[in-house]
Amino acid sequence: MGIEVKNNIRIILHQPSHPGNIGATARAMWTMNLSSLYLVSPKSFPDPAATARASGAEHILEQAIVVSSLDEALADCAVVIGTSAQNRHLPWPQLSPRECAQYVVEQAKVQNVAILFGPERTGLSNEDLQRCQHQVAIPANPEYSSLNLAMAVQVICYEIYGALSEPSDQPIQPLANDAQMQSFYLHLDQLLDAIQFRKPTSSPDLMPKLKRIFNRAQLDEDEINLLRGVFKKICKDPST
Ligand code: SAH
Repeated sequence: MGIEVKNNIRIILHQPSHPGNIGATARAMWTMNLSSLYLVSPKSFPDPAATARASGAEHILEQAIVVSSLDEALADCAVVIGTSAQNRHLPWPQLSPRECAQYVVEQAKVQNVAILFGPERTGLSNEDLQRCQHQVAIPANPEYSSLNLAMAVQVICYEIYGALSEPSDQPIQPLANDAQMQSFYLHLDQLLDAIQFRKPTSSPDLMPKLKRIFNRAQLDEDEINLLRGVFKKICKDPST
């Protein structure tokens, strides 16, 4: 499979607190031949503990991109997958690690794909996960299912390594990217207010449920523009 496919696969660590885990992530990625690492507000980076744990994969750390928000890390990604052991009260579409790898490798032929890992102590928030089209849980002991961050990265990258060696010929269409989806959701949110759809008694799950529908629809840029045209017609200026 071409070099550009794996270059389109981005591993994102969201607010990692232990620099050792950043180094171990670099090593996990490089053993599986992946190299695009983004760090969102790491507690300490660069850090000698990260370099020590990378042992041989220091170049992944050197070329890692450090950003201060998830928006920056995800803006140009059309597919975002969140990793979490936890079941949420609003269940999110699930993929197994192997299904995730196959999907990621297919989609990365035409666009950037992100796999998002949460902070060590808290994991991904519901809001973070709702930016993702899918959740991946690594099957584990139900009584103790939380892997070390870098070990979770290793399992996911191992599956991607396998999927990269089994190319599929399925044609893939580019999807809207995260920046376009976020501004679409903002527009939808403003529209709901403008048409007074929300009542004081409305469930706080209203927006997450709508996001789940639109994430599942895998919209492309033209479809987003079509829907936004409809919103504009319903309400000329949704911010008033
Ligand atoms: N206490 C946190 C644990 C976070 S572990 C929680 O309950 O969510 C740090 C990160 O490693 C997680 O955010 C996730 O990205 C990844 N991770 C750990 N175990 C995982 C599992 N079983 N499946 C998928 N991702 C996992």
